[in-house]
Amino acid sequence: MSMKSYDYLIVGAGLFGAVFARRMTDDGKRCLVIDQRDHIAGNIYSKEIDGIQIHMYGPHIFHTDNEEVWRYVQRFVKFNHFRYEPVANYKGELYNLPFNMNTFHQMWGINTPQQAGAILEQQCKEITGEPKNLEEQAIKLVGRDVYEKLIKGYTQKQWGRPCDRLPSFIIRRLPVRLRYDNNYFNHSYQGIPIGGYTKMVENMLTGIEVRLGVDYLASKAELDKLAETVLYTGPIDAYFGYKYGSLEYRSLRFETEILNCDNYQGVAGMNFTDAETPYTRIIEHKHFEFGKGNAGKTVITREYSKEWRPGDEPYYPVNDEKNQRLYEQYKELAAKEQNIIFGGRLGEYKYYDMDQVIKAALEANGQYGRTG
Ligand code: UDP
Repeated sequence: MSMKSYDYLIVGAGLFGAVFARRMTDDGKRCLVIDQRDHIAGNIYSKEIDGIQIHMYGPHIFHTDNEEVWRYVQRFVKFNHFRYEPVANYKGELYNLPFNMNTFHQMWGINTPQQAGAILEQQCKEITGEPKNLEEQAIKLVGRDVYEKLIKGYTQKQWGRPCDRLPSFIIRRLPVRLRYDNNYFNHSYQGIPIGGYTKMVENMLTGIEVRLGVDYLASKAELDKLAETVLYTGPIDAYFGYKYGSLEYRSLRFETEILNCDNYQGVAGMNFTDAETPYTRIIEHKHFEFGKGNAGKTVITREYSKEWRPGDEPYYPVNDEKNQRLYEQYKELAAKEQNIIFGGRLGEYKYYDMDQVIKAALEANGQYGRTG
């Protein structure tokens, strides 16, 4: 019989931590969840302002093809039928995203899939052979015109690196379609939790002890005594005191404004795809819930991308070759640690979507050491 108070100490009350805590608690395990922030839900945290759910760390649209994950989230909250259909703004010219017949009509004035297909075939020929980077991959997928107006500037702002120095998988996240269909995702299920993401996570954590404002790495030795096994969802390089150097992340800065107007831009997300506009996109939060909110008010957020520096929140892992190699070194160290599991976007240095996080948390089995 163990003398420790908890079976699991879960570091991070974000999506990975909450799902793992729920699963283990349902399994009869004693869990303690801690987070250094003063709120739960990690980067999917939402907060109500003027009757509108604000996505405080950037917009999150839930989408999945995984039946089990979709059924799982329904346990905690109802989802609305929102579909993400962002608009790209290139120097005042508007284009539908993702790349589909509407975009091609707007770009080239053509009307049929045959016409679009012919232009694409012509332009995509520019790249022969396997694309070596994001730029080549983008041109191979949608041709130079779309690349120059809708991808190049946005991607450079988003990642702070030129497109020929970024991995090609990033652009393969976006669908290309010869249909008139502006749905940003190909998945069967999509929506936004009614009442907000924070409510969803709160419901996952029902009956589970949560301590906020606790910095794990600052009091590691003491906290480790509390539990048999640790689930760590913070940055893996921070865990090891950056001993091989720090992994690179992209961080974000948000400028949020409450406006005395009913409808500012008519769409949840507008991407500014030129290189000069300093922000990448403007989010108008009320459109995630079909305009719900106090009359005469709307809340918008301008999103600026920047390189992560110590003290900033890390958002996106920069999965280029250099960083991937560094991560592999940390992963080897992690494999030698006892009684700890590394999980999530930061713990695994992986560009996870929410549904993938949930799946991973439902399957995490202590591959890096004993789970007790
Ligand atoms: N992207 C682009 N133009 C756009 C939107 C996206 O070039 O208007 C590229 C950009 O490189 C971005 C990638 O597509 O990093 C993936 O976009 P996604 O919307 O999936 O990124 P996230 O929602 O994770 O920020």
